[in-house]
Amino acid sequence: MLCDHCGKAKLKAQTKPYHYTECGLLGVFLRNVQWSECPACHARAATLPRAGQLHRYIAWRVVTKSTMLTGEEIVFLRKMLRKNQKQLAELLGLSQVVLNRWETGARNGHASANDSRIRFVYLTMRKDEYTRRMNPKVWEMLHRMFGKVDRKAEPIRLRIDPADCAPAEPASAEIGRFMESRGFSPILRSEHINS
Ligand SMILES: [Zn+2]
Repeated sequence: MLCDHCGKAKLKAQTKPYHYTECGLLGVFLRNVQWSECPACHARAATLPRAGQLHRYIAWRVVTKSTMLTGEEIVFLRKMLRKNQKQLAELLGLSQVVLNRWETGARNGHASANDSRIRFVYLTMRKDEYTRRMNPKVWEMLHRMFGKVDRKAEPIRLRIDPADCAPAEPASAEIGRFMESRGFSPILRSEHINS
C-alpha cells in the first residue's frame, strides 16, 4: 500500500512494539499490534483492536500508579471523562488557569493533595470494567460520601441526641439500608457492628 501521506513509498510492516504517541502519553508501547511505516516520510498506520477498552485500561493504570500524575496524564484522564478544561476545573473547584498550568506542566505542577483529588474525581465519575474492579462496597461508599458534593459551602445542620452518638449503630443502619437498596447483601451491617 502506497503511503497516504507522501505517496512516495510503500508502507512497510513493522514488528517492533507500536509507540502509541497518539494517546498523548509518551511511555505507552503496544505489543502484537499490526502497524506499518513509510520508509520515506515515516508516517505510520496502525490497526488497534479494542481501542476503547485499551484507553480505559491505560486510564486505570494511570489513576492507580504510585507516583504523581504528569500533565499529560491529567489531560488523558480528563479526556476519558469527556470533560473540557473548564468543566474539570469546576469539578475540582479551581480556576481553568490553574488546571491549564497543571496540564501543561508550567510552574512546579500540582500538589499531592490535588493529585489525589484528580484521581478521586476520575474514580467516582468513571464507571467501567476497570473502576468497577474496586471493591464495590468501597466504591459505593466513596461515591456516596464525596461523589456529589455540592461546591457551595454551607454550615452543616444536625439534630443530635448525644446518647445516639455511638459509632456502630447509626452508621451501620444507614449504610446497611443504602447497600441493600443497591443490591448488596447486608454483610456490611454486621461488620460494622463487630468493628
Ligand atoms: Zn510517506
